[in-house]
Amino acid sequence: MPELPEVEVTRRSFCDAIAGATVRAVVLGKPLRWPLGCAPAELVGRRVLGVRRRGKYLLLDLDIGLLLLHLGMSGSLRFAPGLPAPGKHDHFDLVTDLGTLRLHDPRRFGAVVWAQSQEHPGAHKLLHGLGMEPLQEADFDFQAFLAGLRSSRMAIKQLLLAGRLVVGVGNIYASEVLFLARINPLLPAASIGPRRARRLHQAIIEVLTRAVQRGGSTLRDFSSADGNVGHFQTETRVYGRAGQPCAVCATPIRLLRQGQRSSFYCPNCQRG
Ligand code: ZN
Repeated sequence: MPELPEVEVTRRSFCDAIAGATVRAVVLGKPLRWPLGCAPAELVGRRVLGVRRRGKYLLLDLDIGLLLLHLGMSGSLRFAPGLPAPGKHDHFDLVTDLGTLRLHDPRRFGAVVWAQSQEHPGAHKLLHGLGMEPLQEADFDFQAFLAGLRSSRMAIKQLLLAGRLVVGVGNIYASEVLFLARINPLLPAASIGPRRARRLHQAIIEVLTRAVQRGGSTLRDFSSADGNVGHFQTETRVYGRAGQPCAVCATPIRLLRQGQRSSFYCPNCQRG
């Protein structure tokens, strides 16, 4: 599943190339998770101003309204001139004078939704529950983060995955973040004091920044809109490494199941 780093890598891979483009046509394939929310013809003639990101949504700003794109479980975008005719897993083409933006999504949990504005109910419903943005220093406030930990009744790993306090710490990244911060995934979030919270806050920024720098993680078939694959998965310290020696203390990495998800951790480095 594409997580925040992969979505950010995707954004960076086409945001400059598509800025200023004029929409010539919209081609829909099979239904996605949600309907487009306008007639495809209404988008013709619109100009693309730029591409922002909020959580795992890409916000394609148009001169009137915006498109919210979500990659779901298996989606990826391409942006290039002269793409071949859509294949059976290509379900949305935004054809512009600068190239075609194409959503390829075999499982069709992805979506493209038009809204008049970010505050309009159609967009608000998708965006309002999202936590702080970890890669935006101005948004990822430490005191708010600490207060969010203190008021939670969840284990820290599950609080991070839920995305309501801070977005973008998906399953791979949560295991890596907790290892770096030396915090056990089962620890109740409310028991984390300021000193460890500071380590955790820093670890979230470090791990996600590094993941974006490495082009994200390509576990199955992720690639960015210019066709590049990610490399972060080759340098995980604990994720996917059950039984292998911890890079810090050589204790074998353990795997536990937490709310249907795999958590990888070092039982020696992550005691508390
Ligand atoms: Zn260790």
